[in-house]
Amino acid sequence: MSSYKGHCHCGNTEWEAKLEADQQGHILCHCDTCKSLSGSTFTLNQIIPKAALNITKGESDLGKYTYYGESGKGVHCYFCKNCTSHVYHHQEVMGPDTIVLRTGLLTEGIKNFEPKAEIFGKAKLPWEKEVATTFETLPPS
Ligand SMILES: [Zn+2]
Ligand SMILES: [Zn+2]
Repeated sequence: MSSYKGHCHCGNTEWEAKLEADQQGHILCHCDTCKSLSGSTFTLNQIIPKAALNITKGESDLGKYTYYGESGKGVHCYFCKNCTSHVYHHQEVMGPDTIVLRTGLLTEGIKNFEPKAEIFGKAKLPWEKEVATTFETLPPS
C-alpha cells in the first residue's frame, strides 16, 4: 500500500489516496460521459474504497454534479467548484463504500502508473491504439 497525493488545477482542493499494489495503475474509460466531462477521448480511473481517499484541503470547495447512468441509478461527481477538476465519482450501483478515483490527478500516479485495462471499448475512437486489455463495456464480474 502506498499513499498518493493529488490536487485540482487551481490548488483550492488537495487529497491523498491510499492504493494497494493492484490499484496502482490506470483504468481507461472511453464511455461517452467521460468524453463529455473531460473534453477528451478517455479518462484515467481506479476503483477504490471510499475510506482510502482523504480530502486534505478544501473539502467545502467540492461541488457535486449528479447524472443517471444506464442502470437508472445516480452517479455523483465531485469536482472543484473553482476550476472544475473532477476528483472522484460515486456510482450508487457500486454501493456506498466504493468510489471511482481519477488517477490522472495524482501527482505521482499520472507520471508512473501504467494502463491496466480499457473499458467501454465500444465507444473508443477508431484512431486510438490499444494499450491494455480492452472490454466492450465493463469486465465480467
Ligand atoms: Zn480547483
Ligand atoms: Zn467513462
